[in-house]
This record gives sequence, C-alpha cells and structure tokens, in this order.
Amino acid sequence: MPSVLIARNLPDSNIEAARALFDVTYRDETQPMTGDEMRKALRDFDGVLPTLGDAFSAKVFADVPNPRCKILANFGVGYNHIDVAAAQSVGVTVTNTPGAVTDATADTAMTLMLMSCRRAAEGERLVRSGEWKGWHPVQMLGLHLTGKRLGVVGMGRIGQAIARRCHFGFGMSVAYASRSEKTLDFPAVRYDTIEKLSADVDVLVVAVPGGAETHHLIGTSVFDAMQPHAHFINIARGDVVDEAALVKALEAGSIGGAGLDVYEFEPDVPARLLALDNAVLLPHLGTAALEVREDMGRMAIANLKAFFDGQPVPNPV
Ligand code: NAP
Repeated sequence: MPSVLIARNLPDSNIEAARALFDVTYRDETQPMTGDEMRKALRDFDGVLPTLGDAFSAKVFADVPNPRCKILANFGVGYNHIDVAAAQSVGVTVTNTPGAVTDATADTAMTLMLMSCRRAAEGERLVRSGEWKGWHPVQMLGLHLTGKRLGVVGMGRIGQAIARRCHFGFGMSVAYASRSEKTLDFPAVRYDTIEKLSADVDVLVVAVPGGAETHHLIGTSVFDAMQPHAHFINIARGDVVDEAALVKALEAGSIGGAGLDVYEFEPDVPARLLALDNAVLLPHLGTAALEVREDMGRMAIANLKAFFDGQPVPNPV
C-alpha cells in the first residue's frame, strides 16, 4: 500500500475512505504544515494530501531534490500555495479539486453581495448592540440588488456560477473581464480592461486564481474607476487585491462597500478594515459545508488512487 500523509483535519468519511486505500498517516491539525514538516513529508511518504496554507515553495522542493513523494493531491481548487513548476522539476505531480467547490463558493459570493449591498452585517451589529430604535422608512437604506449590473473579473467556473445566479435569480445584467472570450449560457458583455468594467457595474466580483500572475490585479486604478455606490466582492484569494488600496477606498467612501471572504495576509485582518462598517468580513467560508468538503476530499483521494494505480490523474494542474 502506498504511504500517504493527510496533512490537515478532514471530514471523517474522507479519512475512512483514504485508510481503505492507502497506508495513511493522519496529521489531525487545523494549522498549515511548517517548512520542516513539508520537507519531511516529501522525504517520508509516497503521496501527500495538503491544503490551503501548506506553502510548498520552491525553497522547500530545492531542499528535497529527490523526494520519495511523487504526488501532492491538493484539497481545494486554488493551489497558489504550491509552486507547481518547482514541484514538477523534482518529479512531483500536483492535482486539485475543481468543480466540487464551484456552487458553494458562488453561494458565498451571493451571501457577501447581499450582505454588503443590504448592510446586513451592520444591521446585525445594530440589533445585538441593543441600540436599535425600530423600523422607519429611511432606516439603513442599502443598494437594491435586483436588476443591477454585475461585473465579473475571471469568468471561469466560479465566475460563471455567480453570474448565472445573478442573471437568472436576480435579473441582473452581466459584464466580465477575462483573458479569453467565453461561450456562456447567459447574456454577458466582455470588457477589454478591468478598469472599464469596474466603471460600468454596480457590483464587481473577483474570481481569478491567486498567485504571482494575479498579485494585486485589483488596486487603486480599479477602486478609482468604480462608482461611489458600487460594491466590491472578493471570494478569490486575498493577495489578488491590494488590501491597503481597498481600505483607503472604503474609508474615503469612494466605493459603496466591500464583501470579503479572503484577505491579503490571512488570517490577519488589518485593524483599519475591522473598524469599517461598510465592509462585510467572512472567515474564508467559501466551501465550508460538510458535503462540499467531503466531495473535495473524495476528489483528492481519487487523484491519489489514479496516480498509484498508474492511471492518468483526473485533475492535474
Ligand atoms: P477557473 O475555472 O480556472 O477560473 C479562473 C478564471 O480566472 C478564468 O476565467 C481565467 O480566465 C481567469 N484568470 C486566470 N488567470 C488570470 C490572470 N492572470 N488574469 C486575468 N484572469 C485570469 O477557477 P475556479 O474554479 O473558478 O476558481 C477560481 C479561484 O477561486 C480559485 O483558483 C481559488 O483561488 C478561488 N476559490 C476560493 C474559494 C474560497 O473559499 N473563497 C473557494 C474556491 C475557489 P481565462 O479563462 O481567460 O484563462
């Protein structure tokens, strides 16, 4: 049986399934692996199932030039914590779990959109504070989402799932910026720059992968272009956004609000952001539902199984 390190606490059903197939060492921890743990994992196991935050950097691979480990089966679609080129250079295959996360993450984007536009977090704080004086016709007016214009940066699986929800569920028009033109099952207008897109929409959502190519893709020029009533939503990765520029825009009121699931220096959230009433802040809940996490685990295990059976892996990155 191949030896596999499961590097984080997964749903019980995933652990059981993995134990039936592999000689499993289970690191039942909530925190990412340290550099030394990652080096040891590369040296001591045939395969590793890592996840968000396990920073398999070029340095880690360089320190273990002939790893026993030949596959990193990532739990999650986003793999910007793994230097894939460095992994491949030492013969390590990397896989991920696309698709399993799409609907749940799109649902989280809708949650953030509605919460931000309709001031739900601020309203919740008001009720809990005991300071609420009761309904009146102009109490806490927010942005009506139905019929508005959505802008999607990165019209991939999750971007499209968000756009579909907005178009079919909320009667919204859809615009997007993507590197390639998409064939979509709903009407959408493509813009050639993110700034032009940002200027034209009521809600701007980011759904690109993280990593060097998209680092600070969204910054001052985008926030300057947005209309003062428009809301900004990030369910992608924190470092896609220049967080300091976002805080400035929110503090100045030059955009209407922001809904964030991810942060540039996660889990650290700057005090200036915490202090803002026009920011809705979730703790990276994108896929946080048991059945979704079980699906992700099943996909990661299927990648490991295929690899050790000598078959093509279903989800190479
Ligand atoms: P996907 O299907 O690969 O879509 C990504 C989209 O981003 C594609 O449309 C792609 O455009 C675009 N893109 C990629 N690189 C770009 C670049 N350098 N500049 C501009 N656009 C670029 O991925 P997905 O399944 O939708 O997932 C997207 C990301 O969401 C993941 O990578 C992950 O980081 C994040 N995510 C977050 C959570 C959460 O818990 N908050 C959960 C799941 C996923 P082209 O088609 O033109 O190449």
